Amino acid sequence: MEEKEYLQLLDRLYNKLPEKVQKQGIQALPNLIILNIGATTIIRNFKEYCDRLRREDKLCMKYLLKELGVAGSEEANGQLVIQGRFSSSVINALMDRFIKVYVRCSTCGSVDTILVKKDRNVWYISCLACGAQTSVKPI
Ligand SMILES: [Zn+2]
Repeated sequence: MEEKEYLQLLDRLYNKLPEKVQKQGIQALPNLIILNIGATTIIRNFKEYCDRLRREDKLCMKYLLKELGVAGSEEANGQLVIQGRFSSSVINALMDRFIKVYVRCSTCGSVDTILVKKDRNVWYISCLACGAQTSVKPI
């Protein structure tokens, strides 16, 4: 899929969220610091960002690399190095989608949730704000 087409699709999905939910998300989360260096893309505050989401960095990394279809690795200082040049809009759109599916509570819109892996095939989001549980597809 073309990058532009892909972003439009994500925009459409994102715009379906109620306005209140979108605003909460924007206020509550830090921005990703994304750099293009040579043929790589670096997310400087990757570990910190994942910690804020209460998600394992390994899981976020697996999701991102799988969606981008490239290799990458996390360094000891918490930055993620992706093999390939991707614009910050692509990375942000993917992380927004990750948040929408694997972080945000679909009942109250809070990002204060934890991911519970009951076993390899049964995962759900448990919301710390309202207590709702929503099953999600394992990554
Ligand atoms: Zn909730």
